[in-house]
Amino acid sequence: MLQHPHQLNALVHDGSATTAGTVEDPSPPGALSGRLIAIKDNIATRDSPTTAASNALTGYTSPFDATVVKLLRQHGATISAKTNLDEFGMGSHSQHSHFAPVLGPYIRNGVPLSPGGSSGGSAVAVATGQCWAALGTDTGGSVRLPAAFTGTVGFKPSYGVMSRWGVIQYANSMDTVGILARNVEDAGRVFRCLDAYDGQDPTSLSVSVRERAARRQPLARGLRIGVPIEYNIVGLAPAVRSAYTRTLGSLQDHGHSLHPVSLPTTRQALSAYYVLAPAEASSNLAKYDGTRYGFRTQGTDASPKSGLPLYARTRGEGFGEEVKRRILLGAYTLSSDAIDNYFIQAQKVRRLVQRDFDGVFTRLNPLLDSDVTMGAGVREEQGVDVLLTPTAPTLPPTVEEVKLQSSVESYMNDVFTVPASLAGLPVISVPVKLSGQGKEVVEEPDVQSVGMQLMGQFGDDQLVLQAAAILE
Ligand code: GLN
Repeated sequence: MLQHPHQLNALVHDGSATTAGTVEDPSPPGALSGRLIAIKDNIATRDSPTTAASNALTGYTSPFDATVVKLLRQHGATISAKTNLDEFGMGSHSQHSHFAPVLGPYIRNGVPLSPGGSSGGSAVAVATGQCWAALGTDTGGSVRLPAAFTGTVGFKPSYGVMSRWGVIQYANSMDTVGILARNVEDAGRVFRCLDAYDGQDPTSLSVSVRERAARRQPLARGLRIGVPIEYNIVGLAPAVRSAYTRTLGSLQDHGHSLHPVSLPTTRQALSAYYVLAPAEASSNLAKYDGTRYGFRTQGTDASPKSGLPLYARTRGEGFGEEVKRRILLGAYTLSSDAIDNYFIQAQKVRRLVQRDFDGVFTRLNPLLDSDVTMGAGVREEQGVDVLLTPTAPTLPPTVEEVKLQSSVESYMNDVFTVPASLAGLPVISVPVKLSGQGKEVVEEPDVQSVGMQLMGQFGDDQLVLQAAAILE
């Protein structure tokens, strides 16, 4: 790590100055007492602006805290800063920010590496010690990819477990708040403070489903670990492949068993995600019209310069290029001409992805009333408790390489992270050492670790955290 943390553009508002001095005790006693936690800037905080790194929200401060922020404060945490991101969470390298691109803490041939995205600011803030832990959001991998690229832990809970009240929507049906921390234990500690039903979030998981998931027996044996054959792609970088193989081997040495499994719809998951997420985004972002929140451009509807009404010019100037691309894409796939061929097909793929997962886990999905895929006995004998894959197919590219990528090429980074998002599963990225390190003196401050991703059945958040601790 060569750069000074403050040169990495991880923070967009440094809240520490405002938080100390407020009427409220900044650090009441609690599980997070005295801990500095940074918040991705698409999560509402009442004492500093919330911009989603978009010009469209310039000047916007929320009148309330998001539920997750309120809970952090209640448990004693100090909100230390708001973190930089890809505008509205759309991106994989945190380069699409209205403020400045986020730089990763590592360097290759003199060029900073991508911090991953879209929660790159949160990951870099954790990796460089600018906070103890941070909140991000993960719609298709935005907590896990930055974790993998910065050597931190990134946990995305099951959909609906942590409240989305006060979280700026990107694609509601997949949006989750996630946690970035230096180790699994810290991530678990934050999670336990935020794992609560919230009546203000209509998609918050009901108390009865939470109870049903909590009633599951803890495992009284080694883990059955699934190795999905579809993730063994040609594009897997050799360094990632060897770290993966080594991790699988060491799990086996520790008495856990490995089982090849097939999740055939994985191959269609990325395309389905990039139809569904922009479709939801095009609808969610319709509200930024200059009358309700943040930015409004100069002039009136009758401004002589252009024939466009005020709201259209406001949107044109408010949104960045990537956000506009997603809105156009989404508006198209939802149009009457395209909906059958794109949106409906993608929804079908999403259902198949969910079924693939339900077909391989030992535990039944608590959202399903009955076992549609196999009988209980078969499940226990042939199923798996968790799935292990790399988080991303490659090590982080440099920010210069990212600039040369087409949009579709940068979407490819998400190929391993989107399936769990489509199915709403709990999943964590944990850094493991790059193979073959330790001999050479590390003068090259390149990335030192590879992110490994553990996925569990819906509601198995605790099991995923326990399994992740074994990888550390
Ligand atoms: N990179 C993905 C996208 O751009 C995921 C983003 C996210 O999870 N917020 O949509």
